[in-house]
Amino acid sequence: MYLRVTEIFLSIQGESSHVGRPCSFVRLTGCPMRCVWCDSEYTFYGGERISFDEVFGRLDEFGCKLVEVTGGEPLAQKNVFPFIAELCDRGYEVLIETGGYVSTEKVDPRASIILDVKCPASGESERNHWPNLERLRVDKDEVKFVVADLNDWKFAKEIIKKHDLANRAKEILISPIHGVENLQMIAESVAQSSLPVRLNLQLHKYIWGADARGV
Ligand code: SF4
Repeated sequence: MYLRVTEIFLSIQGESSHVGRPCSFVRLTGCPMRCVWCDSEYTFYGGERISFDEVFGRLDEFGCKLVEVTGGEPLAQKNVFPFIAELCDRGYEVLIETGGYVSTEKVDPRASIILDVKCPASGESERNHWPNLERLRVDKDEVKFVVADLNDWKFAKEIIKKHDLANRAKEILISPIHGVENLQMIAESVAQSSLPVRLNLQLHKYIWGADARGV
């Protein structure tokens, strides 16, 4: 079986509760969404058709037992579901970073999901697949709001309360877009919110720069 892949690399996990851990990344090609602030537009087209065996070979070379499958939108390729299952069979700890438009229903339950909820400034908040929030597991899955401004943060607070995310998700990540002007105001408002959330800055961009690929 094959996947269309933009890049495979070994780096440091830059986000989520796993931040700072060595992690292999499999970045798949293609995404049905067009978030205004997208930082991975290079994944929209192209890529290389690579067999599962070749991907597993690369991961074996890295020797890292934590793997993130990302994109683009990784769940947009139907072969990703057996791929995730085989990663789990091989003993990898698997993270799935998904944009929240495609259903997570077919993801192997051994994998952990990091689910984006798109906020208004992304231009894609109408496309959130809300049943994904009901599938979150409190001991395993994380939900992430990328916020571009205080209005997005207000939206995030409403969704957190409306869907009782404090009791549904292992972590609630508030992730200001890199370089956002009002970062201090967002951080202060997060601090004062009394919500069980975590401010999530993208560590890899501070280490390698915002435009670096393969890190
Ligand atoms: S879902 Fe992710 S990859 Fe797709 S457009 Fe939005 S930010 Fe970019």
